[in-house]
Amino acid sequence: MKTKICLHLLIILLLNGSSFKAKAQEMKFENMRTNMVLDQLIKRGIKDSLVIRAMENVERHLFVPIRLKKYAYQDRPLPINEGQTISQPYIVGFMSEQLKLDSTSRVLEIGTGSGYQAAVLGEICKEVYSIEIIKSLQERASFVLDSLQYKNVKTYLADGYLGLPSDAPFDGIIVTCSPNNIPKPLLEQLADGGRMIIPVGETGVKKLVLLKKQNGKISKKNVLSVRFVPMVDKRGISY
Ligand code: SAH
Repeated sequence: MKTKICLHLLIILLLNGSSFKAKAQEMKFENMRTNMVLDQLIKRGIKDSLVIRAMENVERHLFVPIRLKKYAYQDRPLPINEGQTISQPYIVGFMSEQLKLDSTSRVLEIGTGSGYQAAVLGEICKEVYSIEIIKSLQERASFVLDSLQYKNVKTYLADGYLGLPSDAPFDGIIVTCSPNNIPKPLLEQLADGGRMIIPVGETGVKKLVLLKKQNGKISKKNVLSVRFVPMVDKRGISY
C-alpha cells in the first residue's frame, strides 16, 4: 500500500516537474522575443505599432526546425528545410512595415517557407494569402499555422510568379524570394493605392524594391540591399 502511494506521489512530482520545465522554457522564449523586438526592431527604427505587436506575439521558435529553436530569436536568417531560409527578424519587420497594413488589409505573400512571415501578417491583416512552390514546406507551414489558429491565413501550393488572380486585387503584396524582374501578374493584382515589396536582382545581393500603385500608375523606390533565395518555377529554374 505504502509503495503504491509513494509511486503515485513520484508520478505526480515528475509530471509537475515536466510541466514546470515546459513553462520555464516558454518564459525563456518570451524573454528572448521581447529582447528581439527591442534590440533588433525598435532600436533600428521600426515604428509601426501593429508590426511591433505582431512580432511580440508570434512564436518564431515554433516555425523553425526543432534543432534550431534556440537560435530562433537571434539577429540572423536561419535555414528551414529544402535549402530555403527564414529571413532575419529585422527584414520581416522592415518589409511588413513598408506595406502600411492594418486590420482591413488583404495581403498576398509569395514564398510561404516556414509560415512565420505569414503569421506576422495574419496578426495585422484581415486576410493573408500565401503561396509556396515546394510541397513539403507548404504542408508544414499550413499545419503550424492551423495548429496556432491563424484562421485568416491561407496557404497555397502553386507558382507564385502568377499570383492568385481569383482573389485579387490585394492591398499589399510581399515577395520573399527573388526574381530577376518584377513579375507582371503581381503588378496587375495590386489594388489601386496598394503597395508591393520585392527583392529583385540577378545574383547575390538584391535590391529590395517598394512599388506603389496610384491611379493605375506604378512608382518604384529601392529601399535596402538584401540577400534572398531565388524565385523559381516548377522545374526549379530561376525567374
Ligand atoms: N517567408 C518565408 C521565407 C521564405 S524563403 C518565411 O517566413 O519563412 C523563400 C520561399 O520562396 C522558399 O520557401 C521557396 O521555396 C519559395 N519560392 C521560390 N520560388 C517560388 C515561387 N515561384 N512561388 C512560390 N514560392 C516560391
